[in-house]
Amino acid sequence: AKAAGKRQWCTYQPALQAGLVERHELNESLDTAIAESAFALYYQPIVDLAGGELVAFEALVRWPHERRGMVLPEEFISLAEESGQIVPLGAWVLERAAAEAARWQREIGGLRETAGRSQLRVSVNVSARQFRDAGFVDTVRRVVENSGMAPGTLVLELTESVLMRRDERVRTDMQMLGDLGVRIAIDDFGTGYSSLSYLREFPISILKIDKSFIDGLGHSQQQYALVEGIARIADTLGVQVIAEGIENTVQRDLLAAMGCPLGQGYLFARPLTADQAGLLVRDDAEP
Ligand code: C2E
Ligand code: CA
Ligand code: CA
Ligand code: CA
Repeated sequence: AKAAGKRQWCTYQPALQAGLVERHELNESLDTAIAESAFALYYQPIVDLAGGELVAFEALVRWPHERRGMVLPEEFISLAEESGQIVPLGAWVLERAAAEAARWQREIGGLRETAGRSQLRVSVNVSARQFRDAGFVDTVRRVVENSGMAPGTLVLELTESVLMRRDERVRTDMQMLGDLGVRIAIDDFGTGYSSLSYLREFPISILKIDKSFIDGLGHSQQQYALVEGIARIADTLGVQVIAEGIENTVQRDLLAAMGCPLGQGYLFARPLTADQAGLLVRDDAEP
């Protein structure tokens, strides 16, 4: 009955069928890409809004594809989450980003001729499916220990979907990550089932205010009040705030004035290749 149903489906819904075939193809070529580590990591600067200094990079994955060109994460991350492929893909992202961070930190240390290593951070996106994988904390431990990056400079960006399940596993895993010196950021804050109570329930160091709130800053009193309120509460709880998607100086200046110290967005830089990011690191570090 299933086969017959499928045949009918073929006949009457060719578009849907094409979608399935395409999905299947995409899954297969994702497998190959994962096996061959054929992805590229881009790095978007996170800066101090007042002074413009480079504070961190957010690692953002892309998939250079022979036919499709540079495929953006929105086209394959959810597929990789559904299939579980996000687990090996995410591990590759972590490894790559940590290795790059360690390299930049060594370079900055050399340029500044200071004894201590640089505290330049690297922030990595972790999907809920990946965080829930039983091997996740071990993967992070291995990466932190082997990369040679300065302790305390790895940030994991989690979405609220991870925190929504208030189970014990999430809590103990976060504790273990904290013991490794890894910091946790809540990504896209304000979009999901946001609750400020997450900030006291979990060891959160950073809160990233979603671009949709930043968009309205210049012309909506309400948006302004909301962002200011979030920034104030976060500050009271000792949580650092990063504003996402800053595209103009009006937004930057309003954020700096309300005491939101850090931000990222096209105003400062688009996601850069590792080489471009390296140039920026050297520029910023040179006396
Ligand atoms: P996100 O974590 O919210 O990342 C920010 C996205 O906004 C990035 O898109 C970035 O290029 C874009 N962006 C930054 N500044 C601006 C701006 O000023 N204006 C506008 N219009 N956009 C800006 P991207 O790289 O396409 O990534 C999309 C999403 O894919 C990310 O959203 C994240 O959720 C996911 N993602 C990316 N890399 C990874 C990864 O390695 N692992 C996982 N699990 N998810 C990833
Ligand atoms: Ca993010
Ligand atoms: Ca985000
Ligand atoms: Ca986002």
